[in-house]
Amino acid sequence: MEPPTVRETADLTDFSNTKLEAGLRRILDSNLIGVVFVDGAGWIKHVDDAFLRTVGFSRDELPPRLIDLTPPEHHRFDEDAFEKLLAFGACTPFEKEFIRKDGSRVPVLFGAVLNDEEISCFVIDLSQNKKAQDQLNHLAYHDALTDLPNQSLFKDRLKQAIALSQRSNQMQAVMLLNLDRFKTVNDSLGYTGGDQLLKSVAQRLTSCLRDCDTVARFGSDEFAILLTHIPRAQDAANTAQAIKETLAQAFIFEEQEIFVSNSIGISLYPNDGKDTATLLKSAAAALDRAKNQGGNTYQFYTAGGTTRSLKQLVLESNLRPGLERNEFFVHFQPQVSVKDFHLVGMEALVRWQHPSLGLLYPKEFIQLAEDSGLIISLGDVVFHDACTQNKAWQDAGLPPMRLAVNFSARQFQQTSFIASVAAILKQTNLDPSWLEIEITESSIMKDPDPAIEKLLELKMMGIKVAIDDFGTGYSSLNYLKRFPIDTLKIDKTFVSDLCKDPHDTAIVRAIITLGHALDLTVVAEGVETREQLDLLADLECDVMQGFLFSKALSCEDFEELLVEQRQVNTISSLVTTLQS
Ligand code: C2E
Ligand code: MG
Ligand code: MG
Repeated sequence: MEPPTVRETADLTDFSNTKLEAGLRRILDSNLIGVVFVDGAGWIKHVDDAFLRTVGFSRDELPPRLIDLTPPEHHRFDEDAFEKLLAFGACTPFEKEFIRKDGSRVPVLFGAVLNDEEISCFVIDLSQNKKAQDQLNHLAYHDALTDLPNQSLFKDRLKQAIALSQRSNQMQAVMLLNLDRFKTVNDSLGYTGGDQLLKSVAQRLTSCLRDCDTVARFGSDEFAILLTHIPRAQDAANTAQAIKETLAQAFIFEEQEIFVSNSIGISLYPNDGKDTATLLKSAAAALDRAKNQGGNTYQFYTAGGTTRSLKQLVLESNLRPGLERNEFFVHFQPQVSVKDFHLVGMEALVRWQHPSLGLLYPKEFIQLAEDSGLIISLGDVVFHDACTQNKAWQDAGLPPMRLAVNFSARQFQQTSFIASVAAILKQTNLDPSWLEIEITESSIMKDPDPAIEKLLELKMMGIKVAIDDFGTGYSSLNYLKRFPIDTLKIDKTFVSDLCKDPHDTAIVRAIITLGHALDLTVVAEGVETREQLDLLADLECDVMQGFLFSKALSCEDFEELLVEQRQVNTISSLVTTLQS
C-alpha cells in the first residue's frame, strides 16, 4: 500500500482556538518575534523580552514612545503605515530600522494591527539576514583572496566616476598593473606562496593610494587602479612611480627575500576614452607596450602606439585650454628670391606661448594636436590670424607678399576643407591669389583622386598650392604630373648636406629639374650657409627660405622687413624710371 500523502492525513479545519493560542504562544516564547503594544498616541504600553533584546534596552530604560526608537528618516514611513492602519485595521509589514541603546541600528520587519484602542505590533529582527545578505553581496563584488574589489565593482566605480566627471570635467586615470614573470615566481613558491605574495601586493597597493581611489584585482596577477579627480597627468605618473617603488621592495617568504617588478599601463579620462570599456582597452594597450619594453616600467596610452613622454602628456591636456586662452600665435619666415634676394613671400609658422613651459615650437605639439583632433581648430586659428595679418600689411600700404600656410593631412582630408578655407578668406578679406597652401605629399597620396579634386577647386579659387617637405614622402611621379600644384619645397634634410653629400646634390638637382619641367616654382627650405645658397643659385632654384637670410619673425620684425622692402622697391622703380 502507498504511504498516505500529507494532504490526505492533515485535518486543516482542526484549528481550534486553544490550538491556535498554544501555537502562537510557542512562537512568541521562541523569541523569534518581538511584540509591542502602543496606544493611539504612540506611547508604549507593553513590550516583550524579544523586542527588548532586539533594541538592546532593559524595560526600565526603554524610551516612552515608539517614535523615540525610530531614526528620523523613517518617520514618514511610520506615518504612512499609521494612516493605513487606521483605514484598514492593519498595515502591510515593511522593513524599517530601530535605534538600539548603543546608537547602532537594527533592521527589522515591522507590522501592526489595530486592537480596540491599542495597536499591536510585531517586530522581526533582520540583522542576521542582512548580515548574510551583505556577506553575499561582498562576495559578489570582491576578490576572495585579497578582499579587494573585483572587476565588476571596479567597472561600477569607474562608471560612477565618469558620470560625476562629465559635469566637473575632471581627469581620471585607469591603471592596469601586472607582475612581471609572475608565473615563474608562482611556480617556485607554490600556490600558498603565490597567494601570499598576491595578498601582500594588494596591501602595498592599497597603502599607496588615497581613500577615494580604488584598487581591484581582476584575477591572477592582474590589478586595476582607479585614480579619481586628478588635476594633472603628472599625478598618475607620480602614483605609478610610487607603486613601482613600493612593490620593488623585497617580499619575505619563508625567510627568503623575493623581488618582483611590475608593469603598468595608464589611460586617462577623457583623452583616452570616454567610457569604461574604452578606458580599460586603452590601459591594456599601454600595459602591453610596457611589457614589450621588458617590463618594470609604466606607460601611458597613445593613440598611435608610440611612446609619449610625460611632457607630451602634459602638453596634450593643455592644448584645448591653451587654444581657449589664445596662447597660440604666428611667426612669419621670409622667402627670398635666389636671384636678387628680394623678399617674395612669407611662411606662417605657429608658435605656442605656454604659461609655464615658455615658447614652444611646432615639433613639440603639432603631432599631439593631430592625434587629439585639435589640429582642426588650431589650424583655423593659425590660418585666420595669418590672413588677417597679411591683409593688414597690404592695407597699410606695404608691398603685398604671398602668404604660405601649412595645412596638416587631417585638415586637408576634411570634407569641409574647401568650405572652411573659403569662409576664412571671406572673413579676413584676403584676396585668394596671395595665398599658398602647403601640404605634404602624404596628405595627397593617401587618397589621391579626391585630393586632386580638392586641389582643382583651390586652383579655381585662385589659391596656390605647394608640396611641402618634398622628397621625404612617397610621391608617385605619375600622380605628380596630375596634381594641379604650383610649388615644390625641397625638404631641408636634402639642403643641409647639399655641399657635403654628392647624393644630396644629385637629389636637389633632380627635384629642381623636375619642378621646372612641370612648370613649378622650386623653393629650398633650411638654407643656412652661403655655400648652400651659391650651389642652389647654380642649380637655378627659384626661392630660398632659411636661417641664412632669417628665421621666422614676429609680426613687428617682419613688418620692418616689409618697410625695408618698400624702400628697395621704391629705389629700384626709381632706377627703372631713370633708366627709361
Ligand atoms: P615646415 O613647413 O617644413 O617649416 C619649415 C620649418 O623649418 C620651420 O620649423 C622653420 O622654422 C624651420 N626652418 C626654416 N629655416 C631653417 C633653417 O635654415 N634651418 C633649420 N634647421 N630649420 C629651418 P618650425 O617652425 O619648427 O615648424 C616645423 C614644422 O611644423 C613645419 O615644417 C610644419 O610642417 C609644421 N607647422 C608649422 N606651423 C604649422 C601650422 O600652422 N600648421 C600645421 N599643420 N603645421 C605647422
Ligand atoms: Mg611648410
Ligand atoms: Mg618643410
